[in-house]
Amino acid sequence: MPRDYHSASSINVYKQCPRKYYYQYIKELPTKKSIHLIRGNIVHSVLEEFFKIDINEISKENFDFELRMVTLDLLKKHWLDKKGDIFEVVSPKEKIGFYFEETREMIGCWINDLLDKLEPDNLVESFNKLKPKTEVEVVSDKYKVRGYIDAVFDEEGIILDYKTSNKDYITEEYKLQLAIYSLLFYEKYGKMPSKAGINFLRFGEEYILVDKELIEFAKNEVKKIHKLTQSNEIGDYPKCQGPLCKWGSGECEFYQICIGEDMKNNQKLNKF
Ligand code: SF4
Repeated sequence: MPRDYHSASSINVYKQCPRKYYYQYIKELPTKKSIHLIRGNIVHSVLEEFFKIDINEISKENFDFELRMVTLDLLKKHWLDKKGDIFEVVSPKEKIGFYFEETREMIGCWINDLLDKLEPDNLVESFNKLKPKTEVEVVSDKYKVRGYIDAVFDEEGIILDYKTSNKDYITEEYKLQLAIYSLLFYEKYGKMPSKAGINFLRFGEEYILVDKELIEFAKNEVKKIHKLTQSNEIGDYPKCQGPLCKWGSGECEFYQICIGEDMKNNQKLNKF
């Protein structure tokens, strides 16, 4: 079934490979879990829950140690919640410790950055100023697109997405995601965000300018994808074969079925 509403993810999947979009969003084939996906969810949960703490209970004298402990405890809690999933996808199992340590470092970079911005003599006020609204749902019925913004800083009108990837720059894919969030923010609040950015947890924050051009870019991309995804026919979703099909030890989650279809078609042709 064609989708009523798109998201930044579904649009980016179409742009990567229309056939992949077909398998994931038209056929609704199950997608594979991966450690990167699971870890991304864990980190998002940690950051979301972190801002729910009562800062009045944190001591002014020892706040940096206590806040580091809060993040570490949250990481352990959410990691253990996903223990079963992690065990299922990581091989060999010895690598689980490596992924945990890597995630701890990421969260460590993030909390260091936050601690630098906190004012010890003005702890409660400075914490509340840095506290965003998290997981904000944004929907446009006009453009039929929706999403969740990781962090919205109302006062300054800044929107931010958290990424656990190895990248440290805003790719075209991220730019489109930020453009769509800026459009959705505009639709929800009636004003453009002042800035839209990515917090690369390992490397820090990067922002792009939000202007009318960026909002128009988002509108056009969303309209284009709605037009291109009206059909239910596989033939209307061409394959985009390239490095995203297979790399090193990994492959596209639909690689086997995609290649399988090629083989079936070749067998049919050979019969003639
Ligand atoms: S294997 Fe390649 S062509 Fe097939 S769906 Fe995946 S990315 Fe697209």
